[in-house]
Amino acid sequence: MRELTETKQQCPYCGEIIDLLIDDSEPEQNYIEDCSVCCQPIVVDVSVDIEGDLLVCLYSENE
Ligand SMILES: [Zn+2]
Repeated sequence: MRELTETKQQCPYCGEIIDLLIDDSEPEQNYIEDCSVCCQPIVVDVSVDIEGDLLVCLYSENE
């Protein structure tokens, strides 16, 4: 079963808080998602920590 976890993260470009839906059936993910506010491509890096919690980091594409 697919589970989507909603998380609030800050856009690295415009600083707005945006909602992301993470598919946590994949423990390690790295993908591009356009910001819903400023439409710039955000690199979304998802990992799972030792306690099984999702860790989500956002980067700007040119970092
Ligand atoms: Zn933005």
